[in-house]
Amino acid sequence: MNWESVEKRKLSWSEIWGMESNRLSFIIRETYDVLPSPINLQLWFGKDPSCPLCTVPATLKHISVGCRTSLTQGRYTWRHNQVLRCLAAKVECKRKSINAQPFTNQEERQFSSTFVQEGDKPRTSPSTPHLGLLKVARDWQMQVDLDQRLIFPTEIMQVDLDRRLIFPTEIKTTTLRPDLVLWSTSQKLAYVIELTVPWEEAIEEAFERKKLQYANLAAEAEDRSWKIKVRPVEVGCRGFVASITEKLLREIGIRGKAQRQAMRELANTAERTSHWLLLKRTDITWAAKAVS
Ligand SMILES: [Zn+2]
Repeated sequence: MNWESVEKRKLSWSEIWGMESNRLSFIIRETYDVLPSPINLQLWFGKDPSCPLCTVPATLKHISVGCRTSLTQGRYTWRHNQVLRCLAAKVECKRKSINAQPFTNQEERQFSSTFVQEGDKPRTSPSTPHLGLLKVARDWQMQVDLDQRLIFPTEIMQVDLDRRLIFPTEIKTTTLRPDLVLWSTSQKLAYVIELTVPWEEAIEEAFERKKLQYANLAAEAEDRSWKIKVRPVEVGCRGFVASITEKLLREIGIRGKAQRQAMRELANTAERTSHWLLLKRTDITWAAKAVS
């Protein structure tokens, strides 16, 4: 049996969102554990179950997220950055469109001198585009921790993401390098977005770890009157986008069709890059592949 020939099960988003987590977990296992990981090949054909890269018994999970050799060779970082690039392009588009949006008189009064309070709900009027929580400012800046130049694939605009991330020193000097920072100097408000591409069952754990990592930074920045909102987001390595990611998109005003499109692109990017890692599981040398 050749795993590349195995059909992946397609689920609609409405089906996924409506599912209990254990049901989702079952379907994922049902769908993917038939792939011929070395462990499965041993079960089926008595083959050597070792990971070709590191000799540990290789489950699908090992190949997807747990192989030390893959980690040191940068395979998982490559996948992470592909998904981050996709997310960053969406956020960058939204940032530009919000900065270009004039303040309404009401917003002017509401936000020019006040500070956004924790728990504030965005109040968008039906006639204006979705601005989400970013409506409080028009001076949003963004940095993303990617080292490759991204050309946004439309004739309409080019998004230059060729900026190594250095945390804005006006907020806090730190050695932490979050994946993406979106900040407004006028509001002294920053969103720190940390992306993880975990094994789907580890999504909760990844969220807690990331949140803790930035707790001190947020507290210290607060001493300088900056409000830091940490938003860990996850896109499961098999293409199941965590609800926390959907929430982030909604919060920053990416809604409706644009949101569905973003979710689809994130899922596809994670799934295709994981697929590539599986295809390359027996290659000792690693060469990244551009996923377009
Ligand atoms: Zn391994």
